[in-house]
Amino acid sequence: MRKNDWVSAIKGQGYRVDSPKRKRHFPKNSVGIFEDIQDDTDSAIVFLVGLNERWIIPIKELNKVDVMNTGDKHAKKICNTCHCLFPVTRFAKNQNNKHGDVRRPACKQCRTDIDKRAPKTSQAKQMEKRRPPKGSLFQCPICGRRSIAGVTAKIVADHNHHTGNIRDFICDSCNTGLGRFKNGENYLYNAIRYLEERDGTDASQ
Ligand SMILES: [Zn+2]
Ligand SMILES: [Zn+2]
Repeated sequence: MRKNDWVSAIKGQGYRVDSPKRKRHFPKNSVGIFEDIQDDTDSAIVFLVGLNERWIIPIKELNKVDVMNTGDKHAKKICNTCHCLFPVTRFAKNQNNKHGDVRRPACKQCRTDIDKRAPKTSQAKQMEKRRPPKGSLFQCPICGRRSIAGVTAKIVADHNHHTGNIRDFICDSCNTGLGRFKNGENYLYNAIRYLEERDGTDASQ
């Protein structure tokens, strides 16, 4: 094992670099980068991607991972949410794929957690009563575009992915946009800041 190798921490235990007094546990098979050997010990400093933290982990509990040989076509795959290395069977098959070898990017456990944040059913029912009727004029509160509901644009009830609370009806395009920016986690602010910094001017230009 060398610096910058990808590794998986098979036992899921170690010491957090920022509070190394107590031994702690984290998800088994978490994937990280082998950053350095901890001086005079048989442990390594590993940056665990899923936790976004540095940990001190015994080297003998680390397996080297060839990340380019993971994924649907291999025996193991890394979850895009918890960043653990699992057998591909821990990932549900994508429903609408013809070849049967495409699996969800998040493991079954993470999928369950994601699905828990589905819109609250009682609110969803209330909301459906307020849904703009098909064929009516609709204006999206985000992009401001006008469309004919259900004809020239799909209208969706947007919800907070942490609380399940429903917000309002928006166009499908903006809903996808919010989802891409993981709404509620301030990625939108990050995106605006990124554009301003990299473009060197006002992002609205
Ligand atoms: Zn996962
Ligand atoms: Zn819109």
